[in-house]
Amino acid sequence: MKIVFAWIKRFLGILAGSLMAFLLYLYATPAPEGFPVLEYHMVTSRDVTITDSNAYAYNVPPEDFREQLDYLQEQGYTTISMLEYMKARKGKAELPEKPIILTFDDGYMDNYAEMLPILEEHGMKATVYMITNHIGTPGYLGWEELRAMQERGVEIGSHTANHLPLTTLSPEEREEEVYLSKLLMEWNGIRTVFSFSYPNGAYDETMPGLLQKNEYLTAVTGDAGLNTVETDPFLMQRVNIPHPRWGILEFRYRLWKAEAFAKLGMWQHKKS
Ligand SMILES: [Zn+2]
Repeated sequence: MKIVFAWIKRFLGILAGSLMAFLLYLYATPAPEGFPVLEYHMVTSRDVTITDSNAYAYNVPPEDFREQLDYLQEQGYTTISMLEYMKARKGKAELPEKPIILTFDDGYMDNYAEMLPILEEHGMKATVYMITNHIGTPGYLGWEELRAMQERGVEIGSHTANHLPLTTLSPEEREEEVYLSKLLMEWNGIRTVFSFSYPNGAYDETMPGLLQKNEYLTAVTGDAGLNTVETDPFLMQRVNIPHPRWGILEFRYRLWKAEAFAKLGMWQHKKS
């Protein structure tokens, strides 16, 4: 029995030692150069589960969202747009000391009614990726709101026409989703659409070429990590921000985790 205890003790000792070494390593490694792109969906105080039982997980209630922006401000982050990031890549602009990009997928009406006022309170900017065939349908942004948001510092990007995972479509259908969504918005008074978000985060190696051909400059995935000026601009990584179960602590944890992953060298996109 004594021997067993001794072994357990030794094992726990090694475990604790390794953990300490690992944490020290993370602590001692300088902050990664990469910056986060946050991935949001809804920001509403409505009970979203009435219409969609899955929506709960995608909704960050306004009071949590406000707390998150307060935290980012306290931490010295400056929001930039995707275009500013692209200018910096070309050496035409300088990034702030701690850049961050806020993105919103799907284009829910609450992005205008509830999210935008909180964003403006903080003097921050964001990018909204719109599913163009949902424009003006119940629960989604209409043209009026999209144009108004654009005037108030929100960049409008494409999240395709029908929100189908592109990898499940034929090359012709993919092209249509990418091309028509951009064209429709530009015809309706939205400034040139340069930014794209893959539905369900689904992409393959043909996507960067397809997007480039259709005059997009950036695309975001659902892959976790940070971005640098060396990141493939069509495979940018994001930090997903779902409904927070543990308030601001969870938000801080998610930012920390992205940084920790980046420090461990896992931010390089795995070519699979
Ligand atoms: Zn989506």
